[in-house]
Amino acid sequence: MAAVLRGSRLLVGRFCKHVDFAFVSERSMASKTPVGFIGLGNMGNPMAKNLLNHGYPVVATDVFPESCKEVQELGAQIVDNPAEVADKADRIITMLPSSPNVIDAYTGPNGILKKIKKGSLLIDSSTIDPSVSKEMAAAAEKMGAVFMDAPVSGGAEEEFTAAKELLTCMGANVVYCGQVGTGQAAKICNNMLLAIGMIGTSETMNLGIRLGLDPKLLAKILNMSSGRCWSSDTYNPVPGVMEGVPSGNNYQGGFGTQLMAKDLGLAQNTATNTKTPVPLGSLAHQMYRMMCARGYANKDFSSVFQFLREEEGQ
Ligand code: NAD
Repeated sequence: MAAVLRGSRLLVGRFCKHVDFAFVSERSMASKTPVGFIGLGNMGNPMAKNLLNHGYPVVATDVFPESCKEVQELGAQIVDNPAEVADKADRIITMLPSSPNVIDAYTGPNGILKKIKKGSLLIDSSTIDPSVSKEMAAAAEKMGAVFMDAPVSGGAEEEFTAAKELLTCMGANVVYCGQVGTGQAAKICNNMLLAIGMIGTSETMNLGIRLGLDPKLLAKILNMSSGRCWSSDTYNPVPGVMEGVPSGNNYQGGFGTQLMAKDLGLAQNTATNTKTPVPLGSLAHQMYRMMCARGYANKDFSSVFQFLREEEGQ
């Protein structure tokens, strides 16, 4: 599954150090034409930096100018809006918060489609409603361009190869899984499981601490036992258990609680539309919504551990 699903800017950076440069094909080395990048937040910023580090010229924009500073200092050209990006690049990555932002960046008055060139490749790595991905794909096709929801992506073989070049450089594992929308569906399913796992890990760690267990020892035991999961062994939510994760940094950076609440909302919509029972997904959605209402919106989603501690008055 894609590295972007793994969370923090830090983890993307860490993952990228392990990217095998052999993946960067000869074709990519030969064709370092500008790559457009729209949305330079927690995820987009390190992804754009990785492209620059791999020698790709980057043309970028973000509605929040402060977000552009770091990549500009590394040599990216910053332009005013997505249409200007499309004017200068024919391969464009979007990494935006939610469906309305993607609709605006593609079809808004200064959107990509205003200046898109025929044959352009548009790769949306945002987590959004799969139906919006399909709408964007149809709108792009009308303009002679190809839209892919990626890194888990749909599209034709040739386009997938071109997208894979860029996405691999950005630190993503890339999986081909058919038509447009399937990438989003996979991301939504993954994130629902991630939320449920993170809440379960937080509850478990908290109970163990209440029973007098040392959190580091408890994590070690869980990670050697059948309760082990990504939230316990790679992204532990308890401050002090692991280094280099948001719990060790007052839950700053990483994957925001409000983004997790959004993804769980997308899961709820798709579950309702397909009449699929997702009781634990629903509960996780309500918990992350409550956290947003109680000041956790911009903290990493692993702060559910802190939320549970506060709920019990500690
Ligand atoms: P973020 O909020 O940190 O960054 C989004 C950026 O997009 C912001 O800088 C914002 O100013 C910019 N933006 C919004 N609308 C724009 C527009 N119309 N034109 C140009 N720029 C615009 O979000 P993020 O954490 O980088 O996440 C981006 C997407 O990736 C989300 O859909 C999220 O669900 C998904 N995702 C994030 C993570 C993570 O760990 N952060 C993990 C997996 C998936």
